[in-house]
Amino acid sequence: MFILLLGAPGAGKGTQGSLLADRLGVPKIATGDILRAAVKAVTPLGREAKKFMDAGKLVPDSVIMGLIKDELAKPAAANGAVFDGFPRNAAQAELVDRTLAERGQRLSHVLLLDVPEDELVRRLLNRARLEGRSDDTPETIRTRLQVYQRDTAPLVAHYAGRGNLHRVPATGTIEQIVIEIKRIVGR
Ligand code: ADP
Repeated sequence: MFILLLGAPGAGKGTQGSLLADRLGVPKIATGDILRAAVKAVTPLGREAKKFMDAGKLVPDSVIMGLIKDELAKPAAANGAVFDGFPRNAAQAELVDRTLAERGQRLSHVLLLDVPEDELVRRLLNRARLEGRSDDTPETIRTRLQVYQRDTAPLVAHYAGRGNLHRVPATGTIEQIVIEIKRIVGR
């Protein structure tokens, strides 16, 4: 099973993605986590990505496409994975679709975690206080939400057209959202 979690920053993709991946026994692949690890380790990838992440912008596809290909090629992801934080634009979606299709696979479910914008901002500002993520400042949050609307939200129509998009109202408790996702995915 390959499951894509779509949703704005702060929608809870990371939390639900980890729980879902554990239930399914597949890896969760989160490009944001991989990039943050690269920034911390001061690798060339991390050094390049940091400028964009701190500004709340997407890391350019020239940097991200190789990373996505490498992750999909890992043996652990041969038969399933939960994708968190990618694809984030049309070109990345095309790469994911094509890579899976070449293997005779496809996304089994696309889950759109749906949270109103004022709640997203509240959550991200709260996370800033708790975790101190360098891109959780009011200005960067505004940019990230704009980038989501411009580049990532159009993927909702892309997947809705194929009929495997499921909208998950994601303002309830973590447990309520788990129940809803279990209902959709069947596990
Ligand atoms: P959030 O969705 O809460 O903003 P992420 O951890 O998914 O958090 O992403 C943090 C930052 O990492 C993004 O603002 C962006 O700069 C970068 N990033 C993560 N994934 C991608 C991707 N697939 N393509 C481009 N940039 C990405």
